[in-house]
Amino acid sequence: MPRPARALLDLSALRDNLAVARRAAGNASILAVVKANAYGHGLTRVLSALEAADGLALIELDQAVALRERGYVKPLLLLGGFFEPEDVELFPAHRLIAVIHHEDQLLMLEKTEIVGRIDIFLKFNTGMNRLGFPTSQAQALVERLGRSGKVGSITLMTHFANADDSRGVEWQLAAFRPAQSLPLSMANSAALLRHPATAGAWVRPGIMLYGSSPFPETPAAALGLRPVMTLETRIIGVQQLHPGDRVGYGGTFTAQHPMRIGVIACGYADGYPRHAPSGTPIMVDGERTRTVGRVSMDLMCLDLTAMAGAGVGSRVQLWGDELSVDEVAASAGTVSYELFCALSSRVPVSVSE
Ligand SMILES: *Cc1c(COP(=O)(O)O)cnc(C)c1O
Repeated sequence: MPRPARALLDLSALRDNLAVARRAAGNASILAVVKANAYGHGLTRVLSALEAADGLALIELDQAVALRERGYVKPLLLLGGFFEPEDVELFPAHRLIAVIHHEDQLLMLEKTEIVGRIDIFLKFNTGMNRLGFPTSQAQALVERLGRSGKVGSITLMTHFANADDSRGVEWQLAAFRPAQSLPLSMANSAALLRHPATAGAWVRPGIMLYGSSPFPETPAAALGLRPVMTLETRIIGVQQLHPGDRVGYGGTFTAQHPMRIGVIACGYADGYPRHAPSGTPIMVDGERTRTVGRVSMDLMCLDLTAMAGAGVGSRVQLWGDELSVDEVAASAGTVSYELFCALSSRVPVSVSE
């Protein structure tokens, strides 16, 4: 029997979540964000469910080229643009759209001989202070790109730091008053759902497509989003604890009363967060219980005291359609993005339509 830890991907949920994005996007086109191997889901596994998107956005140039070689014909936006002069010519050759966010990239573009033109998303820093040019340079940069003779269309882009919280997007929009009447791209999932007026020409939803809420206080289900990934395993051992007995490395959990615990085949080497403390929610045969003790590499433990019917072989869901990944992430002090991306290659994945 194979080790029972496995992930299931529900592509119908991905299609439905994309439809939620489509309704919010109005007339804007959708670039489905598939960086980091589609947020850990596997780009090739989910691609067919993203047919209704108008294009894809990602960081990884090799994946973008592979998409073209596999016959993907819609727009592909490289969110970090090019990093090396040798890579510049791949953009016109494969019709890839480049984000340009820094002077060094402009110089690379100007110095490289290319065949054809590159469509550009020109990125501005409107307060996140990560990537982007100062907005005061917009006019001059657009003129300079025009003079290079290497650029096709230009879209003006920025990224919001607080679209998911009370600080909002207005303060960044105020900094972004573009002098040009060029197409705009601003919205991630949080902005698309909460500030749809920022949709512009191209929206860039990521996390919502995978069925996780971009807002800490709003469950995904309340936004009409359905989980795509379910991580599950089985109980492979049971222990009876006396009061004072401890569980796992470091003995961080101590039984206060007689307890029955289950040992499951899943650990941090599968992608479950080691930081998840005792008490993190987890499902056994569709019923909610809690983890106990430290998560180890291949194993972790859960409380079966109130679950007389559960034992070796019982089905355990770590997150998915019975338990929101957002709840598990919050308990571990992180976000669903990190949990998804950490799904390990040793976990077999099956896909359902
Ligand atoms: C990752 C990313 C997105 C998608 O953000 P979500 O919060 O997952 O919707 C959009 N734009 C850029 C520039 C990104 O890097």
